[in-house]
Amino acid sequence: MFEIKAKDGLGRIGILSLEKKKVETPTLMPVINPNKIVIAPKDMEKYGAEMIITNSYIIYRTQKLKEAAIEKGIHKMLDYKGIIETDSGSFQMAAYGDIEIENKEILQFQKDIGVDIGTFLDIPTHPDESHKKTFSDLEITLERAREAIEFDLNLNGTIQGGTHLDLRKKSTEEMNKLPFTVNPIGGVVPLMMEYKFSELVDIILTVKGNLSSSRPVHLFGAGHPMLLSLSVLLGCDLFDSAAYVLYAQDLRYLTSYGTKKLNEMKYLPCNCPVCRRYTAQELINENEQKRLELLSSHNLYATFEEIKIIKEAIHEGTLFELVESRIRGHPRLLLAYRRIKDYYGVLEKYDPFTKRSSIFYTGEESNLRPIVKRTKERIRDIKSKKYDEHLFFGKFPKELEFTYPFGQCEMEEERKDKGDPELNDEDIVKVIADYQFGPNVGNKLFHDVVVKRSKTGMIRYVFDQNGVMLATLRARDGLFTPNIEGLRRLKEIIPFPKYRIIVDDEAARFIKDGANVFSKFVLDIDENLRAYEEVLIVDSNDNLLGTGTLMLAPIEVKEFERGMAVRTRWGIEKNSIQESQLEY
Ligand SMILES: [Zn+2]
Repeated sequence: MFEIKAKDGLGRIGILSLEKKKVETPTLMPVINPNKIVIAPKDMEKYGAEMIITNSYIIYRTQKLKEAAIEKGIHKMLDYKGIIETDSGSFQMAAYGDIEIENKEILQFQKDIGVDIGTFLDIPTHPDESHKKTFSDLEITLERAREAIEFDLNLNGTIQGGTHLDLRKKSTEEMNKLPFTVNPIGGVVPLMMEYKFSELVDIILTVKGNLSSSRPVHLFGAGHPMLLSLSVLLGCDLFDSAAYVLYAQDLRYLTSYGTKKLNEMKYLPCNCPVCRRYTAQELINENEQKRLELLSSHNLYATFEEIKIIKEAIHEGTLFELVESRIRGHPRLLLAYRRIKDYYGVLEKYDPFTKRSSIFYTGEESNLRPIVKRTKERIRDIKSKKYDEHLFFGKFPKELEFTYPFGQCEMEEERKDKGDPELNDEDIVKVIADYQFGPNVGNKLFHDVVVKRSKTGMIRYVFDQNGVMLATLRARDGLFTPNIEGLRRLKEIIPFPKYRIIVDDEAARFIKDGANVFSKFVLDIDENLRAYEEVLIVDSNDNLLGTGTLMLAPIEVKEFERGMAVRTRWGIEKNSIQESQLEY
């Protein structure tokens, strides 16, 4: 089971639950080579690892390990209590040709030794292979996938198809039909080794465009911290790193902005326990084994630091900004990021409507963010008394100058004024309502109202002529949260089923009292809504139940069985703050 806690772009902070074990994503699994352990699994927790990955085929073909695993189970053998995922030998097959094991045999072995997530024997086709060969490999992979789901085991349904996007699409559609726990994207390691990141972006977005949003995606073999933020932005949740050891063997030092050669370094630009204690020269002077351990340790710290930076960016709504700084670490990454312009439809519907943080313009790539095109489309039919020119969005209604995203953009110039004296408050709130709820809503919603400003002079509340509050304008993003009376009006103005989330009548009475709306109780939702918008909550007869913030994209509300769909602000029977409590 997978659920979403926060989102930005296609990226999400999620919880993956496997029976009693849970892991917060995005996260990375350090690869453990059971024949050559550099950092012990039980020490992985201090780096921030919540799960590890090892290779069931290596265990299977190494007699001593095989016996130990069968006798004690894999958790005792590796002395690790957390989630253990295993690969199946597919990678060895790609590297060394045929391997001596059958699909069913390796699946049964993984089940017998008690892995938490297993993998069937898929075929990773090399990116250079022809369409014909890739297709025939894929047929075998899909046949084995159908064989695999007969096993009572949480499984990876690895998506193959090489660099042929039609085959990636086919592979994704077939995997979607089968009950896999995670869907890794496989066969991409050679692309990453050759810095072919544009092809990687095409593959990820082709998969994401066709896979249920409720499936966690593991980007197989991606462990370089430089690649993580972009991959998360595009919707990958899980990563594995053999890189922390492999790079260390080569005396290479990982950072989130690229790889460095240890013997060319003088300062170690990191504050992990290794880099605090050693200089570059001291590390080089250590004996080989000790140096491998120390450098692997730094590489792992650097990788998990990046994971935390990414999670914080999702929380703040600054993942695009983070990615746009990371892609400048390598020209190929910069080019790869530009591919997102061909996938506007895949990306836009997941990207939230409003974010906690201001938008930072980092360069011309910022124009590729879906919010730019979306916002331009959204204001196209809105009538205004006065227009202005925005550096990001072009010609826009001046009434929206403090509303997200117009007023929350950090560009080369800053707006400091308190608003245009030529615009009156009623006109401003009407245009904001048009922007938020649709053209021509503002005139009806806020006809003949009293607008009150805060101490700092910003528009804050809208009342009707009798002093009943209709809506509050949120200081953070200049968007409305409607009150009960405002809600009633909105429901009359906006025809069913627009702007609505329709819930099961069973859940209705709890929501009236202010309970949150969970995905499994949702019957339908307006697909034009976006995450973090304010929505009307109604029952199947369009009776108003309340309002709140939509926490997921509509497609996610439909596809997820678990998690919160709306954080309810008001239940219709649990009204409301008194005017005396308001801040002016
Ligand atoms: Zn370090």
